[in-house]
Amino acid sequence: MRGVSSGPAPAASPPDEARAEAPRIAYFSMEIGLEPSIPTYSGGLGVLSGDTLRAAADLRVPMIGITLAHRQGYFEQHLDAAGVQTERPAAWQPETVLEAAAPVVTVTVEGRPVRVRAWRYLVRGLTGHEIPVYLLDTALPENSPWDRALTDTLYGGDRRYRLAQEIILGFGGVALLQALGHSDVHFHMNEGHSALLTLALLEQHTQGRGPDAATAEDIEAVRSRCIFTTHTPVPAGHDEFTKDLAATLIGPELTGLLESRHWLVEGHLNMTLLALHFSRYVNGVAMRHGEVSRDMFPQHEISAITNGVHAVTWASAALQELYDRFVPEWRTDNLYLRYAMGIPLHEIERAHARAKRDLLDHVEQRTGARLEETVLTIGFARRTTPYKRADLLFADLDRLRMIARYIGPLQILYAGKAHPQDQAGKQMIQRIFDAAGALADTIRVLYLENYDMALAQRLCAGVDVWLNTPNRPQEASGTSGMKAALNGVPSLSVLDGWWLEGHIEGVTGWSIGDGHEPLTDPASELASLYDKLERVIVPLYYGRPTAFAEIMRTTIALNGAFFNTQRMVRQYLVNAYFPGGQSARPQPDAAARPAA
Ligand SMILES: *Cc1c(COP(=O)(O)O)cnc(C)c1O
Repeated sequence: MRGVSSGPAPAASPPDEARAEAPRIAYFSMEIGLEPSIPTYSGGLGVLSGDTLRAAADLRVPMIGITLAHRQGYFEQHLDAAGVQTERPAAWQPETVLEAAAPVVTVTVEGRPVRVRAWRYLVRGLTGHEIPVYLLDTALPENSPWDRALTDTLYGGDRRYRLAQEIILGFGGVALLQALGHSDVHFHMNEGHSALLTLALLEQHTQGRGPDAATAEDIEAVRSRCIFTTHTPVPAGHDEFTKDLAATLIGPELTGLLESRHWLVEGHLNMTLLALHFSRYVNGVAMRHGEVSRDMFPQHEISAITNGVHAVTWASAALQELYDRFVPEWRTDNLYLRYAMGIPLHEIERAHARAKRDLLDHVEQRTGARLEETVLTIGFARRTTPYKRADLLFADLDRLRMIARYIGPLQILYAGKAHPQDQAGKQMIQRIFDAAGALADTIRVLYLENYDMALAQRLCAGVDVWLNTPNRPQEASGTSGMKAALNGVPSLSVLDGWWLEGHIEGVTGWSIGDGHEPLTDPASELASLYDKLERVIVPLYYGRPTAFAEIMRTTIALNGAFFNTQRMVRQYLVNAYFPGGQSARPQPDAAARPAA
């Protein structure tokens, strides 16, 4: 599923840094999902980062990506027969597939110099425009063993390790861009992990005087170049470090500055607040998430740009061929998917049947179990963490059995990794295994190991209904339902995140509840979940297949056409990067110019 926009740098390509002209957007993200074989992402945030860069490359946006090499990856998930998760490192070696960028820069961690190099990956767009992504790497012999491991594990280690990683990302990224000769750069912080880049910029602006002497103009100069996207509607999800740890790692001078300017919050270095303070534009990732974020940070102006997915990356081969036949412009302009309304229903049914067969073949290869092509298949896959409530569907096994026995058969596919330290998430996987065992006589429930981009593509495209049951309002956006929509797969979901915008009942899918249920008691959401399955979805699927196919078609036309990163990046261009109609100055690119 490499799509068109990925691939390691060919050795002979001209160094992108040689054409350093202005202004560029440097997109900083702790995780970026470049492609399935490069394990530098854990979930939605990383996949979004990759999809953003893929769409920006298609749109010829002058952008640069900055992330860490994560040599040990996130992790490879193994589940035993009882659903107990164990992890193995997902090691990879950037030097075997990527080109080294020339500069090696130095970053100060705990008062000592740490050398940082970078590997360059090129994201290639539809017309050949390339966006370089620099994966920062401290595995150099001149660094101490601890420092060498700083860019090894995504979201691993303790607070000290995490803050050191954020120093590498923020300070190291800014130093690298400077060493590459990029002077006119605007900085997009995708989540607060990279917020320390603001302090690196402040140091640059106050060079010779020291950041202590920063004036209001210095701060404004930094602000005028920074953009921040927040992703977490849960207060505990925002990265925070104690003042003592900050003083040890970033040094007493910068920590003193943070304190004297009242940029520490209750004695803590809070990355979200640091980013908010230093950004000229801030946004949440769906309209409701914008509202929630404004409530959380009332002193800041916060807009919203709803997430998307990269259409060509996530549409299955079968659907890609269908769109190529009926709406051939869809690759370069996803808005043309609106005209999927003209695709005959039997063509959509046929393409989906192919995607479903591909998925079931793949499931059989992995598990030995053959699911039925004719049986309504529900999919659920995401990071397994409590607020996602992966096991909500199994709250009433008798009711579910009753639906499958008397209304129509069901089969269910699950996937998702729990963070190694998330015990509650791990227990949730075991509860799903327990439920699968208890239901075995009526409903096949399979939990697939090692959820990643490749599996996500197959699952979202090949199931018949995509289920999502987050605790409101904790799903900032959610993107897997968008991947499903792009493949004509309707969602059955709690009204949260993107689904508040994408849901039209009976047209693009179905809601669980009306979005006003009590937050502490899932009983009414549960009743709605089972009612929708029993009275609406299962009867429709088996009894009125043409009506079901109509829903698939409107799902593509209304939601595929909108919830994509092409639309999203355009919104960033207009609202965040180059507001007020300033030219977006697309990158000149020799490859795309017609030969004169
Ligand atoms: C798309 C994707 C996600 C994000 O899914 P959500 O619906 O936002 O939870 C997580 N992991 C992988 C591997 C994905 O492809």
